[in-house]
Amino acid sequence: MSRVAKDDCPSSQMRRITNVLTHQPHLTPRDRQSGVGFFCSSARRLILSVLVLAFFLFQSAVSAFDTVVLDPGHGGHDRGASIGYVFEKHLALDTARRVEQLLKQAGLKVIMTRSRDVFIPLPGRAEAGNRYRNAIFVSLHYNYNRGGSGSGVETYYKHSSSYSLAAYIQAYLVQRTRMSNRGVKSASFHVIRNTTRNPAVLVECGFVSNPTERSRMMTGEFRARIAEGVAQGIVAYKKAR
Ligand SMILES: [Zn+2]
Repeated sequence: MSRVAKDDCPSSQMRRITNVLTHQPHLTPRDRQSGVGFFCSSARRLILSVLVLAFFLFQSAVSAFDTVVLDPGHGGHDRGASIGYVFEKHLALDTARRVEQLLKQAGLKVIMTRSRDVFIPLPGRAEAGNRYRNAIFVSLHYNYNRGGSGSGVETYYKHSSSYSLAAYIQAYLVQRTRMSNRGVKSASFHVIRNTTRNPAVLVECGFVSNPTERSRMMTGEFRARIAEGVAQGIVAYKKAR
């Protein structure tokens, strides 16, 4: 490194950067005569190698994570989907706590945007998703549709870098619960649109409005299975990095 730096070609910084970016030698006849071209080309190769190495290091730094920000949807005055006394905010918090325990057992750090029945505005949730390095953001919700015919689980992402995380969680969630697979979808929900520093997904863990799914999700045994699906998806995603 030091030898190359000492022997670096005498051209201006700007011309060297232009050469690297365009792959054009741009050597003057005098440069060629003096052998400067050799040094320019070795310096160029070195710089390119460093750039390639830096790119891969950056990629692995982006992919590796040790922290999971879990975001149980709604809370406080915001019940989310509700039928009778079954509130989405309670289901989401209970599920997130179960996921939290499983992820901690797997050696991951877990940050909860809320651990109690409190209302957190959406910007505060996305801010938590952006606060930590080497993290992922997973928002947990339960679904609702008029008429109650909707069924199954689905996972949303906004930015393409989050697709893979969504796909892992969705696959394991379906496998673990045997609920119908509504797929991985792109949508512009606030928390996943505004969490830009880290991969971010939003999981809909079944329909509160569907009587059959509602009676299942009211049991701790079934919420435990949902939590296992989400946690296993996250761990499998981490192993695949
Ligand atoms: Zn919700």
